[in-house]
Amino acid sequence: MAKKLRKKRGLLVVVSGPSGVGKSTVVRRLLKLDKNLTLSISATTRPPRPGETHGEHYYFITQAEFDKKVKKNDFLEWAKVHGFYYGTPLSELKDQLSQGKKVVCEVDVQGAASIKQAVEQGKINAAAVFIFLIPPSVDILAFRLKKRRTEDQEVVNYRLRAAIAELQVMEKYDYIVVNDKVESAAEKIKAIINVEKERTLLN
Ligand code: ADP
Ligand code: 5GP
Repeated sequence: MAKKLRKKRGLLVVVSGPSGVGKSTVVRRLLKLDKNLTLSISATTRPPRPGETHGEHYYFITQAEFDKKVKKNDFLEWAKVHGFYYGTPLSELKDQLSQGKKVVCEVDVQGAASIKQAVEQGKINAAAVFIFLIPPSVDILAFRLKKRRTEDQEVVNYRLRAAIAELQVMEKYDYIVVNDKVESAAEKIKAIINVEKERTLLN
């Protein structure tokens, strides 16, 4: 068999953006469009919403379990987001990347900044691309936050103010994708991944 000229190397795809912009909706669609993608499943202290299951949407863990994992350096990054803790499990991610997989991490803006730092410090041996999802307008973002109906009005208002502040960091990312239609936003991210795969000389 001919020897491969290019070494298989993983690609870390970080999808971030303000709360309610549609990250989880778009990422779910993206995973359906591209079966070669793997989702990094985060751990959280947030209780599950209706329809969410342990090990599929998140690892739902207690505060004590979360604190233990922080102490053991089990997370690539972790952050407190709107009152709950979220973290990206490190060993799972390293395993997947070392197998040359394309792994999608859906994190808030603090998480994306921490991951960027970790990649620059060589903590992760993979290429990484940072994608920022933005709403078509602030009004549409407010509408989507309300539509989700998982939080009360006070929480929605608080999240909206935070989201507007979070939009200020978008120029630190490699790509900005407008989430107009779920399908087209997912297609755009798929196209970015395909280009990045070539640019970084992955398999
Ligand atoms: P995030 O993960 O960024 O907090 P969600 O994926 O939970 O956001 O989306 C917030 C709400 O907006 C949900 O009700 C979702 O169905 C809706 N939504 C997401 N993307 C779109 C879109 N492109 N068009 C219309 N509604 C959308
Ligand atoms: P939700 O509770 O709506 O699922 O998520 C709230 C926020 O936490 C979203 O912005 C989501 O992207 C972010 N988030 C989910 N998992 C992680 C993670 O592992 N790390 C960080 N920093 N943020 C996360």
